[in-house]
Amino acid sequence: MSKILVIEDSPTNMKLVRLLLACKGYQVLEADNALDGIALARGERPDLILIDIQLPGMDGLTATGVLRQDPATRHIRIAALTALAMKGDEERILAAGCDAYIAKPIHSASFLERVGQLLADAPPQQAPPG
Ligand code: MN
Repeated sequence: MSKILVIEDSPTNMKLVRLLLACKGYQVLEADNALDGIALARGERPDLILIDIQLPGMDGLTATGVLRQDPATRHIRIAALTALAMKGDEERILAAGCDAYIAKPIHSASFLERVGQLLADAPPQQAPPG
């Protein structure tokens, strides 16, 4: 079953996302900040990362850049979870290296459909050299 890492500092949003993903049988890994999330991504090699943009300390777009620089994590699908909806935000999010954008508030059915699509699109896991 697919492994999904959720990096989100809001306990309310984390609870909802955890519930939805667990109901579908996905294995859920959780971090409430970017640095812990990056460490989990490196150690666990999830199939998909859902990352909040507004995080305390390092923000989600900076963290995405770090994940994209690292050969161990650069292939992992990343979707931004964000309430940002201003013009240009989607372009900014994609330019930072995210594969997709999921708007908050989260709607259960469309959220799970999007997650399913992202997992279906995900390239096969490749072991990094060395
Ligand atoms: Mn946040």
